Amino acid sequence: MNSDNHYIGRFAPSPSGPLHFGSLVAAVASFLDARSKNGQWLVRMEDLDPPRESPSAPAVILKQLKDFELVWDGQVLFQSTRLDAYAAALKSLQDRHLTFQCRCSRNKTPSVYPGTCRDAAHTENLATLPTSTRLRVDPCEVGFEDRILGRKTWHLQHDVGDFIIRRKDRLFAYQLAVVVDDAYQNITHVVRGSDLLDSTPRQIFLNQCLHLSQPNYAHLPVILGEDGFKLSKQAMARPISNENPSSLLKLALKALGQKVIDSIDYSEMLAVSALNWDIERVPKTLSQNIIELTDEDLQK
Ligand code: GLU
Repeated sequence: MNSDNHYIGRFAPSPSGPLHFGSLVAAVASFLDARSKNGQWLVRMEDLDPPRESPSAPAVILKQLKDFELVWDGQVLFQSTRLDAYAAALKSLQDRHLTFQCRCSRNKTPSVYPGTCRDAAHTENLATLPTSTRLRVDPCEVGFEDRILGRKTWHLQHDVGDFIIRRKDRLFAYQLAVVVDDAYQNITHVVRGSDLLDSTPRQIFLNQCLHLSQPNYAHLPVILGEDGFKLSKQAMARPISNENPSSLLKLALKALGQKVIDSIDYSEMLAVSALNWDIERVPKTLSQNIIELTDEDLQK
């Protein structure tokens, strides 16, 4: 895939369920950021994890995006069609001994992997045991300039640890697929929720290992529901309804710290919002982002 366009953004939902308000905010922000720069906006369906997916979700999500006039460029890329590319990337890392097989149980492993299998001389034949594949991280710092949050840095070994790129159930991990596909689609700008901020050092390191170019990142404040918890499809956050898109768009703009234009129709509001889009106004933290989303708001 090739393009001369200077800005290519994307929205990359996992089809574990319909979009909820939090994912609408991420879609609106990445869409407006792309359109404000006359860039392309792509949609990628991250359907890599069948056990967690709902078979109807991809079609529902695409219909929801259309209902909100978030019109994407080109064809939707389904990650389920890209397994060969992930296998090739994995092989290239394995061939260079940048990975190791790991028998540790994910649930019992601390979030920063303590290195249990890293240098273990396994005597058993690993091919017959269920193992995940982890990428060995270097003892160095990785950092980047987030367009919303400013400079962010992590020490790869202390803060991140060797991480899984292929799971024990043989499914490719999100970290590997996202990096391979952002490069394949020539993504220049990633705008997504800050629930994924901790993934970014992993993705930057993987990019470096695979000699891929690194996109610019912007991480949005995560929208909380009334109970103070992150809205997520798994937590059964209510799907957004298409009954009154203007009121949800206004709420999304409010959450994003943007000017909210009143008394015009939905299409105009979206177009004007792209003209007015100012990423500098997006709040960095949740405390500045009290938008009091009530159950009623989410139903409007
Ligand atoms: N598929 C991920 C999700 O729905 C988002 C991936 C990304 O934007 O990098 O949370």
